Amino acid sequence: MQSIRGTKDILPGEIHGWHTVEDRIRHITSLYGYRELRNPIMEYTDVFKRAVGEDTDIVGKEMYSFPDRGGDSITLRPEATAAVVRSAIQHNLTAQQQIARVYYAGPFFRYERPQKGRQRQFHQFGCELLGASGPEADIEILALAHDFLESLGIKSRELHINTLATPEIRQQFKQELISYFSSHLSELSEDSQSRLQSNPLRILDSKNPGDKALSANAPKMQDMLDAESKDHFEKVLSLLNALSIPYTVNPLLVRGLDYYSHTVFEFTSTALGAQDALGGGGRYDHLFEHFGGKHTPSIGFAFGMERLLLAMNAQESIPEASNPEMYVIGFESDESRKAVISCAHALRIRSGKQVIVDVQNRSLKAQMKEADKLGIGHVIIIGPDEVLNNNCIVKDLSSGMQYTKSIDELDAFFG
Ligand code: AMP
Repeated sequence: MQSIRGTKDILPGEIHGWHTVEDRIRHITSLYGYRELRNPIMEYTDVFKRAVGEDTDIVGKEMYSFPDRGGDSITLRPEATAAVVRSAIQHNLTAQQQIARVYYAGPFFRYERPQKGRQRQFHQFGCELLGASGPEADIEILALAHDFLESLGIKSRELHINTLATPEIRQQFKQELISYFSSHLSELSEDSQSRLQSNPLRILDSKNPGDKALSANAPKMQDMLDAESKDHFEKVLSLLNALSIPYTVNPLLVRGLDYYSHTVFEFTSTALGAQDALGGGGRYDHLFEHFGGKHTPSIGFAFGMERLLLAMNAQESIPEASNPEMYVIGFESDESRKAVISCAHALRIRSGKQVIVDVQNRSLKAQMKEADKLGIGHVIIIGPDEVLNNNCIVKDLSSGMQYTKSIDELDAFFG
């Protein structure tokens, strides 16, 4: 039996990296006052269809959707924002002009072709700032994302940023793109030809060399911006400057999903290879209305946790996992084993120490060897003499120093 293609077991030997990322998530989000929202991993299919858009890759090709036994169409979540908004409306998180700062971390599902940094079950950490429209909200989200990557020690990265302006301008822009690309139809890749009418913006971020060459000369959103969109974008950029967060304005950045307007951004890393996006996000001012909620301008981002770990591994920025602190070693007698188990229990519960004991009735030599292999700091030996005298031998494996201590003294000895 094998795990499903595109899914991975996260094994005990690699969990330390995950815990490091999760600790950083908790730390940084708490600095900014974000609290965790845990949504179900499945939703009614409509939640994603409506929010993400029928013409996107995610909804069109990648969702794990199935009828449940009652006949409802259910989808394993391919992204979080749609579910966060569904949940915010359902539970009134932004009632009475309140804003909500939330974060999430967990598994997501997309039926994609597996490769390095791309899986069918992957994990995302994201933040959403719901109910604020100003550039101050954009900079809060951007700074949080930046600080998070800094805290993970991911250095080889870039922030790309763009504006998609208002839905009206985007509509005009789409029409301009359709007419421009239509006049070069035969030069477009097959994928882009099929997207031309439904989602022409996506052609701009195509990786196909022919598409790229055409996109370089395509009409620019920057030339069509209304005063408000322009002002908003310039304020965001000037706040990035004020915080000394480096960025590149990238007019070809559009993000894949339908719901974005104004600021969109992506963090990439050269440590990742072909799938070089660590994460991205943007402003979605009209998504709540789409779900029948009231106008609630919002902005958020999502990082792929596997990709964060790939980048951290490439830079060796994952700190070493700590080893258990002690190994209590016994002899092959019932009295000795009993004393070992009691001593280990007391050290764990009274002194909060991480303690390993042998559970296979092995020899003293085998236990010493295991302690060494585990990188243990101290071994505590309780043989027949020690049982009689109610004491033990403490050996510091790094210095080789050895002491005889009464069992009751151990607490104080280890502080
Ligand atoms: P998206 O909102 O689609 O741009 O996804 C945000 C981030 O999630 C991406 O930048 C990736 O880091 C990560 N991600 C998306 N899809 C996958 C996948 N299939 N496997 C691994 N990571 C993914």
